[in-house]
Amino acid sequence: MDTDVLIVGAGPTGLTLANELRLAAVSTVLVDKLPQRSMLSKAGGVQSRTQEAFDQRGLLEPLLALGNHPVGTAHFAGIALPLTRDRHRHPWRSIPQVVIEGFLEQHLAAQGIQMRRDHELTGIAQDVDGITATFADSDVVRSRYLVAADGGHSTVRSLLRAEFPGRAGTLTTVAADVRLSGDDQAMTHARSEDGHWAMVFPLGTDPQGRPLRRLSLGGPGRSLPREAPVTEDEIREGLRAVFGSRVKLLEVRYARRITNAARQAARYRHGRVFLAGDAAHVHLPIGAQGMNTGIQDALNLGWKLGAAVHGWAPEHLLDTYHAERHPVAAAVLRNVQAQSLLMDQEGTRDPDLMAVKELFAALTRLRDVQYHLDDTLSGMGIRYPMPGAGEHPLVGLPSPDLDLGPVRSHELLRRGRGVLIDPADRFAEVAATWEDRVDRAGQGADAEPMLIRPDGYVCWAGDPDALEPALGHWFGEPR
Ligand SMILES: Cc1cc2nc3c(=O)[nH]c(=O)nc-3n(C[C@H](O)[C@H](O)[C@H](O)COP(=O)(O)OP(=O)(O)OC[C@H]3O[C@@H](n4cnc5c(N)ncnc54)[C@H](O)[C@@H]3O)c2cc1C
Repeated sequence: MDTDVLIVGAGPTGLTLANELRLAAVSTVLVDKLPQRSMLSKAGGVQSRTQEAFDQRGLLEPLLALGNHPVGTAHFAGIALPLTRDRHRHPWRSIPQVVIEGFLEQHLAAQGIQMRRDHELTGIAQDVDGITATFADSDVVRSRYLVAADGGHSTVRSLLRAEFPGRAGTLTTVAADVRLSGDDQAMTHARSEDGHWAMVFPLGTDPQGRPLRRLSLGGPGRSLPREAPVTEDEIREGLRAVFGSRVKLLEVRYARRITNAARQAARYRHGRVFLAGDAAHVHLPIGAQGMNTGIQDALNLGWKLGAAVHGWAPEHLLDTYHAERHPVAAAVLRNVQAQSLLMDQEGTRDPDLMAVKELFAALTRLRDVQYHLDDTLSGMGIRYPMPGAGEHPLVGLPSPDLDLGPVRSHELLRRGRGVLIDPADRFAEVAATWEDRVDRAGQGADAEPMLIRPDGYVCWAGDPDALEPALGHWFGEPR
């Protein structure tokens, strides 16, 4: 083997996974076909859960220190959810994808992980022991596992002939990074009487410190073929149709047409090959979910691959990647579908739809409805099935950040290992047999006992008799 894991694609998913595998002390080769990182920013919105996960790796503080990344308000179909703003330790934030990618790339380089750029994967052959990957420049890499983080048009997925069911795009809208004058700082979703709409988000600042905006535009007659170039006049006209002369276009830094295609791989695991990020799921970027879902795929998969490489993964562990992550992206696809419809992207002004939208807007003024929507859009409501772990309300959810005196429990996750919080010092004996994989902490703290997986999810709490089976289920045979 040349390496344990070959990661194809150095977008946010591949970069996050490379960092997880580094933590797990697994040898990794990360390749990307681009000679250099794309400076085009796609994603802008970063969910609470993604920020929390970065914090659990010690990455959030240095990432936020890189610039002015404004806190915003999550929205569902353009309807702001202000009551959710202070619900989580890390509120919804705008951080451009290019900033996240650049940060992760530098972090990996500082840890000695280099990526191979200008390296396009063109073929794979899988056997019982591993995968042989071939590249456009005739290079060959042999690895035990391969992760396809190569985006929506994934080469690996095509080579596998993996099923990618769903719907082809039926419309396009414009997404552009712009500078504007006359808009306010907050997220705005505005529409005109005749169905034209615009959505504006703060997107940090340009190198001169001037505020940038992510602008989305659509409406009647605005769904042009995807390949048709987006012109400045088109953007100016779209703004005028919605805001009149109030908002003016100062600069277009980048513009593209996006479609509402929605597809998800039927299986995330194909033997020793795993699909992650956009390679596994694509949808219209509404509600800041694509990059976040990809990063969270990587966090879910990384420690499991580490366990498999180091030989302690229980038989079922790698299969839990599909079992846990497929339903998450399926739910994202469904909520995007609902948002797309409610937003009336084509500007039909259909009276039946308008009636539903009016009713929905009224419902979203209720706190519980906002909380329900926020559970999905923040990533904080994701709950994984934890067989045999009992009914404790924390089980399956992201772990709370417990104050354990000298440290916070999230800081303990920086090693990328399991953590057993044992305030009453009851579980020393059982924990000792997993001490090469699980850290025990929190003795004497005022906290509930719980077992936390390396990706930050509670996999046991409550019933003491269920602890040992939970350790075996997630961390393999005792030493
Ligand atoms: C306008 C827009 C706005 C968006 N806004 C948001 C948002 O606010 N929040 C959010 O969460 N998401 C958002 N998204 C979605 C987000 O950008 C994607 O979900 C994210 O880029 C997926 O990351 P990835 O790493 O899985 O794939 P990608 O970012 O597509 O990266 C794949 C990488 O693989 C490389 N590659 C491809 N083929 C090969 C090959 N054969 N060999 C080697 N390398 C290869 C590519 O060069 C690329 O670098 C938005 C998308 C768009 C278009």
